[in-house]
Formats: sequence, structure tokens, C-alpha cells
Amino acid sequence: MTPETDKRGRPVLFVLSAASGTGKTTVAREVEARVPGLFYSVSATTRARRPWEKDGVDYHFVTREVFRAWLEHGNLLEWAEVYGEYYGTPRKPVMEALKDGRDVLLDLDVVGKRKLQALFPGQVVSIFLFPPSLEVLRERLITRGVESGKLEIRIQNALREIEGAQEYDYWIVNDQLEEAVEALASIVRAERQRSYRFPRIPLQRSAEVGA
Ligand code: ADP
Ligand code: 5GP
Repeated sequence: MTPETDKRGRPVLFVLSAASGTGKTTVAREVEARVPGLFYSVSATTRARRPWEKDGVDYHFVTREVFRAWLEHGNLLEWAEVYGEYYGTPRKPVMEALKDGRDVLLDLDVVGKRKLQALFPGQVVSIFLFPPSLEVLRERLITRGVESGKLEIRIQNALREIEGAQEYDYWIVNDQLEEAVEALASIVRAERQRSYRFPRIPLQRSAEVGA
């Protein structure tokens, strides 16, 4: 039997980006539940918690002081300012997952994606998720509950974020949830098997053959 260490290549960091309200969190969480060995990175943010969000599950909700202290202590792998609030990736959980040989799924904006590509050359796979249309995006933002007066700003920002889609490896349209989830799960499964991620040829010579 091939040893476990030879069956898997170097861990991959999957970065998922989309305009707010497209369904990133929904798709990412479903793929995490479906694909073994995939760790979902929970970001830290200074923005206010939305009523349906859970601290430590959707985000680590922190004050600006705490965020700055984490930054100063090097606790964040990358960070960005989005809509006037800070967002960042806690370093330790990601590094531990990679050390354990697990792949990591991160929900980041385009700035965060670029930073990770610089930090982990050749190890980042980027996926951009599109809403089927701007009308559907608007409906999803309303259903989810957008902050009052923020709907049009979010739509304008969505158009700007979508402009960055050209620099991503994969595109998925999140129309039917099941199809979008399976598309992302397939990308994860296929990327894991890329020959260049393997440390060596995964074929063990038995003692008899070698003799
Ligand atoms: P994001 O993380 O991109 O801001 P969410 O995952 O919070 O978006 O999803 C926004 C809203 O759209 C939620 O109410 C979610 O249930 C809904 N949603 C997500 N994907 C789909 C889909 N494929 N079809 C219909 N509704 C969806
Ligand atoms: P929201 O407030 O709608 O949850 O997220 C706003 C934006 O911040 C989204 O584009 C999301 O991808 C991005 N974001 C969330 N967490 C992080 C993070 O840790 N780092 C970076 N760079 N962007 C993040």
C-alpha cells in the first residue's frame, strides 16, 4: 500500500471571492461539509455583526484596537480595508492546517487573494463566484438583510469587484446552489491531484521488486 504521505501533494489554498451577497459563505460552508480535509478559515473583522451571524463561526468580531494589536503582533496573514472596515486572516489556524496537510478555503477580496499569492507562490487556486444577474444579487442582498441605505452602494461595489474577476483561475455562476457547490468541490478534488503538487512519484517499490 502507498503510504498516506505519498497519496497527497502539497496543501492548496483555495481563495473564493465574489461580490457581497452572491453566496460565497453559503457555497464555501457546504463544500467544507462535503469535502474531507478542507479547513475553512474564519476571518477577523471590525464591522458590526449582522443579526444572523455567529461570532467565531462567520467571523471573529473584534474592535479596531484588538485588530491593530493583532496586526502589530503579526497575528494576521493578510488584511485589507473593505467598506471602511478592517478584515484579516488569523495566521495560526491556517498555518496549523497546512502543517497537518489539510487544504484551506478562504473567503477574501481581490487584495487578500494577491497577498496570499505572494506569500504562497504556486499554492493558491483562485475562484470567482458570479451571481446569475445583478437583479438576482439585489434580491439576495434584500433576502439576507442588507444594512439600511447600503443596497445601492453594495450593487456599485459589486460591479467594481466583478471587474477583478479576470485574474482568477476559475469562474462559477452561483445560480442553482447545488451546481455551484459541486463545481467548487470538483475544483478542490481535481487541484489536489495535480502531479506537480506531489513530492515524488506515489509508487512504492516492494522489497521483492527491488531485490
Ligand atoms: P456572501 O457570503 O457572498 O455575502 P451569502 O452566502 O451570505 O453571501 O448569501 C447571500 C444570500 O443568498 C443568503 O440569503 C443565501 O441563503 C442566499 N443564496 C446563496 N446562494 C444561493 C443560491 N444559489 N440560490 C438562492 N439563494 C442563494
Ligand atoms: P462582508 O462584510 O460582506 O462579509 O465582506 C466584505 C468583503 O470582505 C468581501 O469581499 C469578503 O470577501 C472580504 N473579506 C472577508 N474576510 C476577509 C479577509 O480576511 N481578508 C480580506 N482581504 N478580505 C476579506
